[in-house]
Amino acid sequence: MVKGINEKLFNEAKRYIPGGVNSPVRAFKAVGGTPVFIKKGKGSKIYDFEGNSYIDYCMSWGALILGHAYSEVIRKVKSVIENGTSFGAPTPLETEFAKLICDAFPSIEMLRVMNSGTEACMSAVRLARGYTGRKKIIKFAGCYHGHADYLLVQAGSGSTTFGIPSSLGLPDEYIKHTFVLSYNNLDVVEKVVKRYYKDIACIIVEPIPANMGVILPKPNFLKGLREISEYYNIVLIFDEVITGFRINYGGVEKLYNIKPDLTCLGKIIGGGFPIGGLGGKKEIMEFLSPVGSVYQAGTLSGNPVSITAGISTLKILKNKNIYKLLEEKTDILCSGIKEIAMKKDIHIVINKIGSMFTIFFTDEKDVYDYQKVLKSNTEQYRKFFHKMLKEGIYLPPSQFEANFVSLSHTEKDIEKTLKAIYDVFKNI
Ligand SMILES: *Cc1c(COP(=O)(O)O)cnc(C)c1O
Repeated sequence: MVKGINEKLFNEAKRYIPGGVNSPVRAFKAVGGTPVFIKKGKGSKIYDFEGNSYIDYCMSWGALILGHAYSEVIRKVKSVIENGTSFGAPTPLETEFAKLICDAFPSIEMLRVMNSGTEACMSAVRLARGYTGRKKIIKFAGCYHGHADYLLVQAGSGSTTFGIPSSLGLPDEYIKHTFVLSYNNLDVVEKVVKRYYKDIACIIVEPIPANMGVILPKPNFLKGLREISEYYNIVLIFDEVITGFRINYGGVEKLYNIKPDLTCLGKIIGGGFPIGGLGGKKEIMEFLSPVGSVYQAGTLSGNPVSITAGISTLKILKNKNIYKLLEEKTDILCSGIKEIAMKKDIHIVINKIGSMFTIFFTDEKDVYDYQKVLKSNTEQYRKFFHKMLKEGIYLPPSQFEANFVSLSHTEKDIEKTLKAIYDVFKNI
């Protein structure tokens, strides 16, 4: 056991990298303290340089549904990498990958692959604008769609954590076409659409938001969005970067039987490598260049490494029917947590679907939109987070994020986690 290495590594990192990190939430700003620097990951666990191991519920922000360094995926990647890592020319692997996703998602007839979820959302909005010839877009407070200027308005955890409504460097002109409405409030959507429909290109939504913590849609909210967008010829975009292949094999659209026009993907479909995907109706997708005139491109897009990791992950998800298993594990964990909280008189609300969940520390009875989310007790979460970390449990370093259970989490992991929560809830 060597203490203080994380601090040393963090200080060194801060000299050369802004804030010491390459993505802001990693810096532990929301919970305070020094981030853990990771040496390696295997299965459900990550290991630091001080000799500690942690059961990981962050799982690269949901990207790793199978667990860290899953052997079968790593084996496939190793063999493909020997033959070149990028060509800037097409490979049949890309077609195989697109076909897998088109077969899985009822609404997706064609897919364009890129390198991040941010790109997918950015391209989706450009495509919707190009297709409709309209400028304005609707998004929902607390939903995150990557960091393109016009989407970075009330954008969930990162900006919630940092207490800034959006960001510096966003000229008014860039965001004046973005309406930010309240998730789960269909009345407001109707009002805005009825007034501005001639100018509205798209509604973009995380159908089940997970970037302000997990929020569940009220009955008929998503159906309502579909009906109203269809009526006014507005493009409906489901941002399933987190939910795609997380809850089932085929997305929230399949779960609720609601077909969006376009879908953004990322995280899980890259099998732990950089990726983004934009899919949807052929009629709209063929507005993309080189067929149509909406430009979209990428030097490393569809590289054989990300694609191979993706294909191998999707095949495992498809063949092993793991979703039931994941859900059972998560149910045991969440009902255990609720029971302990009740006993210790800690006020929480757990929002859960499939293998993702958020424990909101709150006196509210339920949490279903951004306003409710903001009533959470972040101070209590901060204490909870650090005490859990000491117990060897790595939770997302912000109240406004989701926990993810992977195929590699064992019953023993769940037991250990519950025992830690039992001890920790005693003194927060
Ligand atoms: C993570 C995420 C993005 C952005 O993806 P990156 O790969 O980080 O650019 C977009 N939308 C949602 C819903 C996400 O969770």
